[in-house]
Amino acid sequence: MIKAVRGTRDLLPPDTALWNFVDETARSVFRAYNFQEIRTPVFEDTQLFARGVGEETDIVSKEMFTWEDRGRAQSEQGQLITLRPENTAGVVRAYIEHNLQTRGLNKLYYIGPQFRRERPQKGRYRQFYQIGAEIIGPPTSGSESPARDAEILELLATLLDRLGITGWTLQLNSIGCADDRARYNEALRKALDPVKDRMDPDCQRRAVTNPLRVFDCKVPADQPIIEKLPRISEFLDEPCRRHFEQVKDILRSVGVEFQENHRLVRGLDYYTRTAFEFTHGALGAQNAILGGGRYDGLSEELGGPKAPGIGFAMGEDRLVLALNKSAEEMQPKPNVYIAPLGPGMDRAAARLARELRQQDIIVELGDEGFRMKKSLETAGKLGARFALIVGEDEVKADSFALKNLATGEQVSVPRVELVQRIRRNE
Ligand code: ATP
Ligand code: MG
Repeated sequence: MIKAVRGTRDLLPPDTALWNFVDETARSVFRAYNFQEIRTPVFEDTQLFARGVGEETDIVSKEMFTWEDRGRAQSEQGQLITLRPENTAGVVRAYIEHNLQTRGLNKLYYIGPQFRRERPQKGRYRQFYQIGAEIIGPPTSGSESPARDAEILELLATLLDRLGITGWTLQLNSIGCADDRARYNEALRKALDPVKDRMDPDCQRRAVTNPLRVFDCKVPADQPIIEKLPRISEFLDEPCRRHFEQVKDILRSVGVEFQENHRLVRGLDYYTRTAFEFTHGALGAQNAILGGGRYDGLSEELGGPKAPGIGFAMGEDRLVLALNKSAEEMQPKPNVYIAPLGPGMDRAAARLARELRQQDIIVELGDEGFRMKKSLETAGKLGARFALIVGEDEVKADSFALKNLATGEQVSVPRVELVQRIRRNE
């Protein structure tokens, strides 16, 4: 038997109702904040991720699905292609390619699959889904404003609330600008130098290549060392400090709670200022439901114009795990099961079904080959509210037997009154 590939999974009903609920809620929240949808390709030139995510990140160094797309001529060198592991790089590429700067401030969102070669476990898959958004534009569009950072964070709080997800924590930090980071890296190196030999080999390597990433070390024995390292907040220059203060001020004024977490860092130069993560207690080891931050230098890194931006990506798989809702209850049930009774009745039943469905009534349509008993049993199993019986006499009278499956009550309803009658009992 051929099975789904390791790390991928089928999303089946009734669970897909939960996914649709998340998608629809996200779309309606994005609409309220005036974001528009962007859809970029599922695969891109490998270079885009090498530069846009960073060679030394886990994603690029070990998690990407990459292959060579052979050129048509034998001699032609193949191009390296990668299944997207995240969507920000693709959005910024599209921004540059289509000159979206001419539109001023772009507020874009996406929903779609991403791919990473990771060890599959609960909340961690090789094909997973992200819902994300970016605010990006030329400096004159206000894309650098702390008001935009706060707007994104408040949007996220609203989305999680609307989904009914409680018990989340917003962790917030500022990682400063390029100059701040250079001075901070220097200080970290100095502080790590005398102690790094006592650390786990992986953390030691980070201490040398990219000291910021030491904060991501999970080895318990190294934590006391990490806790004593200097903090980025001591190195922010005045504009960056003010930017961070303004973000926090707005969050307080709109009532979004946050925790400052000085260990929340992103190790690449084009990540600037605000960095954040939302975590959720019920998710165990995979407790991050979303991450994001500012990337004021990313467009230039990819050869584009200066285009400050801020964005986030949330893991939809983890969101669905955190939902407090039963898939069974989310799945809408048929309002009515139409039971054609006897030969030739499929045609009349199909006409009726068409009329009702055009009024947005959920209709399941039976089969003239079914006996009454079987039709009623099927209707019951589906959880339909009514059965509508379509026999020869009913068609002649243009009036149909409507049976309430909960009470057993049955009445004859003229065709023109059916919609109203079915709705009345909703
Ligand atoms: P983690 O530390 O859990 O590996 P990450 O830092 O790699 O997360 P990001 O690249 O910031 O994650 O992606 C944003 C969100 O996408 C994460 O917070 C998480 O909810 C989700 N996510 C990332 N990788 C996976 C995966 N393999 N399976 C399911 N969801 C994922
Ligand atoms: Mg990861």
